[in-house]
Amino acid sequence: MLSSVLELFYPSLCILCHRGVDSYNTLCDNCLRKLPRTEHHILRDNKVEMLFTDLFNRPRKQWDKPRFVRGGAWLRYDDDVASVIHAAKFYERPELAKFLGRQAAQEWQPTGYFDDIDLLVPVPIHPRRLNERGYNQSEYICRGMSEVLGLPIDTTTLLRIRDTPKQSQLTDDKRRTNVEHAFRIPEPTRWHKRHILLVDDVITTGATIRNCIKEITPIRSCRISVFSLAVAR
Ligand SMILES: [Zn+2]
Repeated sequence: MLSSVLELFYPSLCILCHRGVDSYNTLCDNCLRKLPRTEHHILRDNKVEMLFTDLFNRPRKQWDKPRFVRGGAWLRYDDDVASVIHAAKFYERPELAKFLGRQAAQEWQPTGYFDDIDLLVPVPIHPRRLNERGYNQSEYICRGMSEVLGLPIDTTTLLRIRDTPKQSQLTDDKRRTNVEHAFRIPEPTRWHKRHILLVDDVITTGATIRNCIKEITPIRSCRISVFSLAVAR
């Protein structure tokens, strides 16, 4: 890859302030410290959880009731966070997504946020998009988290079957309908009695995650938690 050749000749720089840092695709300690934390890991009924709890309040038989366990975003989506996540997503810097996942997991693990989770599940992108970009940034967030948490990553159970316009280019209403029926789980038995953590980069309206959850809720005894690097509102 071109980027690894360039790395031989150029010093590694912080993504935000461009000061020298020890390794590529990272932030300096100062910029990392300044990113706005939400503290969602210790806040029940936080902004992210409130986006999804209604999906679990429908009457069901107790034995097949999927449970929403917890949800949260590591950062508030300000200009700095936006440029870091944009770089991770569009400038061929998957390692930066991994770095952020690792940092978030290190900060949240001590409070038990990831306790009893079985699988890390990145929100899938459509194969065509994957082909264009070369990687799914959410999968790289999971890879960084997995290094810290030692949890497996599942990219083959939840599938994206519809290629949809980019959510960031749509109004809120369009975002909601855009991702309807975009996901499918061909082998739901894989997740019986599992606790999965859905992982995304940015939550805005929550429409994408809601549609993933709708696919998952019919699965018997599957428990669901949500983690995102940032929340935009
Ligand atoms: Zn910096």
